[in-house]
Amino acid sequence: MIKVRNINKYFYVPERIQALNDVSCDVAAGEVVVVIGPSGSGKSTFLRCLNRLEYADSGEITIDGLNVLDPAVDINKIRAEAGMVFQSFNLFPHKTVLENLVMAPMTVRKQGRKECEERGMELLRKVGIEVKWNVYPEQLSGGQQQRVAIARALCMNPKVMLFDEPTSALDPEMVGEVLDVMKDLARSGMTMVVVTHEMGFAREVADRVVFMDAGTILEVGTPEHFFTNPENDRTKLFLSQIL
Ligand code: ADP
Ligand code: MG
Repeated sequence: MIKVRNINKYFYVPERIQALNDVSCDVAAGEVVVVIGPSGSGKSTFLRCLNRLEYADSGEITIDGLNVLDPAVDINKIRAEAGMVFQSFNLFPHKTVLENLVMAPMTVRKQGRKECEERGMELLRKVGIEVKWNVYPEQLSGGQQQRVAIARALCMNPKVMLFDEPTSALDPEMVGEVLDVMKDLARSGMTMVVVTHEMGFAREVADRVVFMDAGTILEVGTPEHFFTNPENDRTKLFLSQIL
């Protein structure tokens, strides 16, 4: 479903930083890949390259055959296929919950309002927040806002879902409700790439764990591999610091 070959990404700030260094990774349909690694290791840049929020400088990325790095491919098409959920929920503050959900499918997918609203309500039910369909984001808790953000991404019927530390900005008591929604989504067969420090989630849900450091993928394995006998010294150090 996702094919990444030898991507490189540089930032000039003003001196050159190589945020991604020859990163390759495949994700099969229905697979859940959890990406872990220290701050600044390139996890967000990797995710952002997948849906062209950042443009990789070289290499190859395809999502279900769609060539992400082809400038002729419409950015909206890519964003529709790869839904993204951020640490900060990024809901539109002056739109109600349901309006937040229907905007993109109506404008990008050119679907009718009624159809979008029905699908939107179904998704709000799925993330357990149907009763809040007509309120504004500020009237919701962080956990509720993040569940709306997930429903909003799903409204586009994406092929893959990308999560960048979706629970890092939440109060501890709200982390569980968001992880539960993500677990349901994983069980439903969604292809997911998840950057998170929630090792319980990784252990329970990930098919594979990817460890990044300094812009490279240093180690890839099953959760069992990572949590019982990681090979790389830097992986061991990282895990000892967060577990
Ligand atoms: P992580 O998500 O693992 O913390 P990032 O992908 O955010 O890491 O960052 C990787 C590297 O790229 C860091 O050195 C960071 O400072 C740099 N970087 C990320 N985004 C930008 C940007 N927009 N401009 C300049 N440098 C950036
Ligand atoms: Mg990050």
